[in-house]
Amino acid sequence: LWRKQLQIHYDNWRLIHAFLAVAAFILALVHIEGVGYYIATPAKRIVWGTIMGCWLLLLLYVRIIKPVALLSRPYKVRKIIKEKGNAYTLVVVPEQHQGINFLPGQFVWLSMYHSPLRMKEHPFSISSAPEQQGELHFTIKELGDFTRRIKDTPTGQPVYIDGPYGAFTIDRHPSEHGYVFIAGGIGIAPIRSMLSSLAARGDSRSHILFFAGSTLEKLTFYEELNALKEGLDLKTVYLLEHPPWDWQGESGFLVTGILKRHLPSHLQELKYFICGPVPMVQLAEKELHKMGVPLHHLHSELFDFV
Ligand SMILES: Cc1cc2nc3c(=O)[nH]c(=O)nc-3n(C[C@H](O)[C@H](O)[C@H](O)COP(=O)(O)OP(=O)(O)OC[C@H]3O[C@@H](n4cnc5c(N)ncnc54)[C@H](O)[C@@H]3O)c2cc1C
Repeated sequence: LWRKQLQIHYDNWRLIHAFLAVAAFILALVHIEGVGYYIATPAKRIVWGTIMGCWLLLLLYVRIIKPVALLSRPYKVRKIIKEKGNAYTLVVVPEQHQGINFLPGQFVWLSMYHSPLRMKEHPFSISSAPEQQGELHFTIKELGDFTRRIKDTPTGQPVYIDGPYGAFTIDRHPSEHGYVFIAGGIGIAPIRSMLSSLAARGDSRSHILFFAGSTLEKLTFYEELNALKEGLDLKTVYLLEHPPWDWQGESGFLVTGILKRHLPSHLQELKYFICGPVPMVQLAEKELHKMGVPLHHLHSELFDFV
């Protein structure tokens, strides 16, 4: 809860978290044994024994069995593509297996440079479409220790992928009227997967993309998103924090005025997919709800959840 306020690095916080969970388990066992009352009858001993057994099996599965299984399904880095906005696309291919089946917009836990047994995995959205078979793309913005190493990763580097996970996908929320995508910065990664997928499926509905960034030069996939419009009925609205003097488009925060200018009159019937910095996601949700969009039409992905 207070990791950021206490300035605890994510990896250390995770180790403390695991240590506290095991300590709580052992203390509970000592308490049950010490008091005696809870295991006084055979029935009580069976109940407690089953609870503890399930807990241990779960731990064994998550920390040992699953990581060992991942070791037998490795991927390797095929190439690294430099993108706009301090981001790199990591292209990986499965080694002698079929790879994973995923829905556009989902994410995986990725282990690279370490074995999956080391608890050093990071979550990343898949930025390619499931229709692009044979390889997976992850578009990663430089932020800290792990993400800054991506650009120097050699071709052939082993990668382990646990997933897919997540409900941030158009495939779980069918909509007759099309979708509205709202991205801020690297939040475009899962949205690029969904848009590419819609294009690959020959989707004929109308979709809108609001994409906010600091400058035009920093909008990851800017050219590719414009090119997608050739095969997809997609309206793009770019919002710049620092627009050039001759910028004709939108700027500033994504407030009601901007949304109203670009959304159709049946905006309450559309489904919204929002991914970006926490303040942007919260503001977009608040404004859309104020405009009458039901909460169950708003779907968000937070990259910064702990
Ligand atoms: C569902 C989901 C999807 C994501 N998809 C993308 C994506 O497509 N592209 C992208 O650039 N980023 C994505 N992220 C964010 C990405 O996981 C973090 O930026 C990355 O793990 C930072 O690691 P670091 O060591 O470089 O930075 P650090 O400076 O160590 O960490 C920066 C912040 O990232 C978070 N973080 C760090 N390590 C982990 C970890 N092991 N597990 C979870 N969170 C961590 C913490 O909130 C931390 O404060 C996603 C995050 C989530 C939760």
